[in-house]
Amino acid sequence: MKLTLDRICLSTNDLCLRCSKKLKNGEVTKLDIEVGKIIIQAAKQHKFLNSISLEKIISTKNAVYLLVKQGDKEKLEQAGYVFMNMLSDTVGTEVVFIEKVKNVRKFIEGLVSPAEVVNTTTVFIPPSGDKEIKIQFRESDRNKVKISAEELTAIMTPLYGYGAHYFFS
Ligand SMILES: [Zn+2]
Repeated sequence: MKLTLDRICLSTNDLCLRCSKKLKNGEVTKLDIEVGKIIIQAAKQHKFLNSISLEKIISTKNAVYLLVKQGDKEKLEQAGYVFMNMLSDTVGTEVVFIEKVKNVRKFIEGLVSPAEVVNTTTVFIPPSGDKEIKIQFRESDRNKVKISAEELTAIMTPLYGYGAHYFFS
């Protein structure tokens, strides 16, 4: 199991220098400690959680996203609703598992599913030349896209360095 802080530090409640530094410089927050502890606890009962890899925790206005390696989402969901409830009760909002993929389009598709991505284009916004992904959805999928562009951008930026907006046609 890989967590955003050392497992031993989380289990013993005694952060080593490296973990303390991460907390101090804002790379992780108290959420990482709370979530890590719950996962360690749950892994005692659900052994398959011992192979998961939690890469990053992203907190937005609407939810807390746990970025895990490919294949881990299924395992976390298998741990059941007691585990899920404990997570969301602790963080105080909805918890969503997302899998890390290199391909940004695939990543977006995972987040907006079941809505279907028709097309993605990279745009550069003047005057800064900042990069952004423009996503095209079908008009008929309008009600299926639950995530706002703002939320999408908040999740994407720490991972890819740029955000996205979308339109329906
Ligand atoms: Zn540590």
